[in-house]
Amino acid sequence: MDCVFCKIASGEIKGTVVHKTERLVVIKDINPQAPVHLLVIPKKHYSTLLDCADKELLGEMLLVAAKAAKEAGVDESGFRAVVNTNEDGGQTVFHLHMHILGKRPLNGKMG
Ligand code: AMP
Ligand code: ZN
Repeated sequence: MDCVFCKIASGEIKGTVVHKTERLVVIKDINPQAPVHLLVIPKKHYSTLLDCADKELLGEMLLVAAKAAKEAGVDESGFRAVVNTNEDGGQTVFHLHMHILGKRPLNGKMG
């Protein structure tokens, strides 16, 4: 499948991996919107949040997001974890992922 995050997860193309588990990778966003901008990406392909019913995996995404935020040093100052979904959600890469943003005040509460 021609999917950039599948390719990063499989190692076919290079991403800046900061954290890895059996089922997830965490990479640095290539076009960061904040000093800390990470992406939590399941290795398995799901196009959107709507396509994933794996509770364990979805739970692990949040746990790993918290861990990666801690490792990036934004646990005390704070961060945001976001899953953009479909057009109005602003999703551009159709492989499920969670953004972690931090190290600056995130203005605009909810878009
Ligand atoms: P979204 O708009 O929520 O689908 O988020 C997609 C994110 O993936 C954007 O923030 C892009 O900057 C990021 N992105 C796209 N291609 C790459 C890549 N090759 N490596 C790292 N991040 C990427
Ligand atoms: Zn994919």
